[in-house]
Amino acid sequence: MIEIKSENELELISEAGKIVKLILGELKYAARPGVTTADLGRKATEIIKKSHARSAFLGYRGFPGVICTSLNEQVVHGIPGDTALSPGDILSIDVGIEKNGYYADSALTIPVGDKVSQKARSLIEVTEKALYLGIEKAIEGNRLFDISNAIQKFAESHGYGVVRGFVGHGIGKNLHEDPEVPNFGKQGTGPRLKSGMVLAIEPMINEGEYEVEILSDGWTAVTKDRLLSAHFEHTVAVTAEEAKILT
Ligand code: MG
Ligand code: MG
Repeated sequence: MIEIKSENELELISEAGKIVKLILGELKYAARPGVTTADLGRKATEIIKKSHARSAFLGYRGFPGVICTSLNEQVVHGIPGDTALSPGDILSIDVGIEKNGYYADSALTIPVGDKVSQKARSLIEVTEKALYLGIEKAIEGNRLFDISNAIQKFAESHGYGVVRGFVGHGIGKNLHEDPEVPNFGKQGTGPRLKSGMVLAIEPMINEGEYEVEILSDGWTAVTKDRLLSAHFEHTVAVTAEEAKILT
């Protein structure tokens, strides 16, 4: 069942969303060559503590990181560690927190240093644009898979692979709620969207084929062909006029 959130609940999710946004802003700035992904994790921990919030990921089904940091061919769920960022890398950072019982979740991909290739930059740009095209469809009266279709159509028009193995989700009192929000689907199908639904829309787009596999750490998802992958995510509320971005 897809829950409809009250005004008060939307306010609480938005509070959590502001903290997520703050963390991503800081990490984006901090992610320079030489910095390790563990350094970024520590920075996130500091802000989460100061904000009297809690990481939504740490301990989730045993996940060992406070955030997810996924480099280059890593799609999602990379674990912060000793790997130092190198010029030319692309880094996906995914942040989820809980505050006062409500969750928000957001991600972005950034180029590290100024030596990032044009093809990597294009993948990042298209993935971000795909997210916003999906968000535009998150209005009352539309169907859920209108969001999915907008993302898929745009990404595939650039020759990219749309990841099937991971999808977006409803969010609120839990990190993952109904419905699943795939980044692929048929326009005009799926549940009817209603004001007060809150969705984490999160395209994961691959430079090559859409298949992914999981590394031996049990978490890190990588592209099967080891080509690049990018990831953008926002937590959004459906309204009658336009989707409201809460992160
Ligand atoms: Mg996320
Ligand atoms: Mg998510």
